[in-house]
Parts: sequence; C-alpha cells; structure tokens
Amino acid sequence: MTKIAIVGAGLGGLLSGAFLIKKGYNIEIYEKLPVIGGRFRNLDHNGYQLSTGAVHTVPHSTKGPFGTLLRELNSNVEIIDYVPRCIFQINNEEIHITKSDDFLSLFRMFSLGGKIRFLKFFLSLGILKEPTGDISANSWLNQQLNADFIIKMADHFCDWSVNQNTKQIVASEFVALMKSIKKYGGPGIIRGGCQSVTDELKSIITSNGGKIHVKEPITKIITNDDSVTS
Ligand SMILES: Cc1cc2nc3c(=O)[nH]c(=O)nc-3n(C[C@H](O)[C@H](O)[C@H](O)COP(=O)(O)OP(=O)(O)OC[C@H]3O[C@@H](n4cnc5c(N)ncnc54)[C@H](O)[C@@H]3O)c2cc1C
Repeated sequence: MTKIAIVGAGLGGLLSGAFLIKKGYNIEIYEKLPVIGGRFRNLDHNGYQLSTGAVHTVPHSTKGPFGTLLRELNSNVEIIDYVPRCIFQINNEEIHITKSDDFLSLFRMFSLGGKIRFLKFFLSLGILKEPTGDISANSWLNQQLNADFIIKMADHFCDWSVNQNTKQIVASEFVALMKSIKKYGGPGIIRGGCQSVTDELKSIITSNGGKIHVKEPITKIITNDDSVTS
C-alpha cells in the first residue's frame, strides 16, 4: 500500500489525511508543535474556548465546499447555518442586508446613469465572468459602479470575510467570493468550535490506522526519483 507522509497537522493536513486514509492509503502526519490543529483549534482559557485562528465559523454553510467535504467523510461535525445581518450606515441611513436580494435597496442611492450600471451588475452577478489579470477589486469595482459607498461597503465586507481590503485582493478573487455567496449562502457555525473538526479528523485518521506524530518538525525531504525516501 502506498505510504504518504503529510507535513503539518493543520486543517489542510488533517483533511488530506482523512480523505487519503479513506481511499486506502497508509498515512503518517508529522507536526512540529506538541498539539495538532494549527490555526483551527481551541485554546481553553478559564472555560472560554479561544481560537488559534478561525473564529469557529466555516465559509458558505453546510452546502459549501467545506461542509460538503465533511459530509463526504461521514464526519460527526455539526454545522449550523446562519444568516448574518449586516448593517451599513450610508449617508446617515441604515441599510440592512441579510440576503443578496437586499442589495437592491441600494438602487435608489445611485445617480441615473449609476442606476443602469448597478442593475446590469446586480442581475449578472451569478454569471459574472471572473476578471483576468491582476486588477484589484477596488479598481474593478470603480470601473463597474463608480460609487464611493460601494467601495466602503466592499472594504468592510472583505475585511470581515478575508481580513483584507479591496485594494489588497484581486478582482477575480472578489468576484469568485460574491458568486460563492450567491450559490452557497452565508457562513455556518461549528458546534463545539474548531476543535470539534480537528478532533473528528484525528479520530477518522487514527481509527483507520493512520499515525499523527507531534513535536516532529520536518527540516528536510530527501527524494529518489519521484518518491520520498526520508
Ligand atoms: C485570525 C484568523 C481568523 C480566521 N477565521 C476563519 C474562519 O472563521 N473560518 C475559516 O474557515 N477559516 C478561518 N481562518 C483561516 C483558517 O484558520 C486557515 O485557513 C486554516 O486553519 C489553515 O490551515 P492549514 O492547514 O493550511 O495551515 P495551519 O493551520 O497553519 O497548519 C499548518 C501546520 O503545519 C505545521 N508545520 C509547519 N511547518 C512544519 C514543518 N516543517 N514540520 C512539521 N509541521 C509543520 C504547523 O505547526 C501547523 O500546525 C482564519 C485565520 C486567521 C489567522
């Protein structure tokens, strides 16, 4: 049976390990820290579950790629879908957005020419082609809609969802994000926090004969032709 070594027991390493072991591969994971989970685990502080990174939510609910992967693994992780309410203050007015159709309430805030651009943009959102090249989301949105308040809203949204502003992410990534939200919906909350995912993946790996080594930093990978020898 092919033996596969995985470097790092973060979410990526554990998910890969769980899938590969279910496909019948022999898995060994090497983690440099004394604990597994990387940026996806809980730290207990006086009974409060703090996270090492992820804030106990997963993108795009149970229907999204992450929820689908966990389902395909028959994992016992429970994700609860929720619809976050966003409140934007624009020109002293509160705009409440809970679902994508609520964006239509922005229509009246555009100039006449802007209204046509906005409608065209909004209606084509689901089928929008991802822009090519490295144009930033900021420049692209300006080209599409030319409205300061849209940039401010997009900046807040990107900061919340990917910790970056529209100048820092490329337009193609921004469009992909919008399309995913339209397709899969908002985020989901993991019952038990990130740790429940980490624990479940560990259980899938070890109960199927896989090994996870901690305090094992990989400093060098020695290969012979296409395979790793040590
Ligand atoms: C502040 C913050 C908030 C976030 N919020 C969310 C959220 O709400 N929802 C969400 O889905 N995602 C969120 N994320 C992103 C999510 O945490 C990461 O995408 C995910 O945990 C990354 O997993 P990973 O396995 O790729 O990397 P890591 O978690 O970094 O794991 C890599 C592992 O490899 C180990 N390692 C590295 N080098 C070696 C070596 N040489 N030898 C052995 N081991 C090694 C490390 O110790 C680590 O354990 C957030 C991230 C941050 C920082």
